[in-house]
Amino acid sequence: MKFDVITIFPNIFDSYLGESILGRAQKNGLIEINMHDLRDYTSDKHNTVDDTPYGGGVGMVMMIEPIYKALNDIKSGKKTRSILLTPRGKRFTQKKAQELTTYDQITLIAGRYEGVDNRVSELVDEEISIGDFVLNGGELPAMTIIESVSRLIPGVLGKDESSKEESFSDNNTVEYPQYTRPEIFKTGQGNELKVPEILLSGNHSEIEKWRTKQRG
Ligand code: SAM
Repeated sequence: MKFDVITIFPNIFDSYLGESILGRAQKNGLIEINMHDLRDYTSDKHNTVDDTPYGGGVGMVMMIEPIYKALNDIKSGKKTRSILLTPRGKRFTQKKAQELTTYDQITLIAGRYEGVDNRVSELVDEEISIGDFVLNGGELPAMTIIESVSRLIPGVLGKDESSKEESFSDNNTVEYPQYTRPEIFKTGQGNELKVPEILLSGNHSEIEKWRTKQRG
């Protein structure tokens, strides 16, 4: 699976995407993540990517032309998907993450400023929002999508089954609660926080029933 991100801040991604599970997945060739600096697709000496909005108003809007050129420059795979990240988009879900694993290549456009020229929506396959709140840019939404899609690709997680029982993977329920040592944790206020007894019983069928009941 190949991800291409169009952004004016390509360096933001380095440390996060290069570490841990995603770092290993890239080394193992399971995923490839490429950054495309939008300023490389400008033609003026100031590498301008934004301009004032038609109709007036505060802030700047990202121009369509550099984005159009960047999209054309990104080499496609067999089955590709281009996504504009925007609060106006359809809400991202685990189901959408699963659907995106069926593509060979995904292009993510991260906006900045007041957003991008609305005509960019006609150049892409879909618009996605990661929630009803406004961030400064589309870089965190891009990382959110890359990470949630990548961990569903076989081999990316240590064990294949790790993502199978997770929250939202089945009927939109959340995973059962998890515990580890110690059995009893004593807080400074004298409270004892205990692991549910059923989990210490060794009775696997009862544990399974308890876990099923706990799924919210
Ligand atoms: N003026 C826009 C509005 O009110 O909807 C917000 C623009 S925001 C400051 C700049 C960029 O951040 C957007 O173009 C988009 O790429 C990204 N962004 C911010 N919040 C987002 C969200 N919830 N989901 C996806 N992208 C988001």
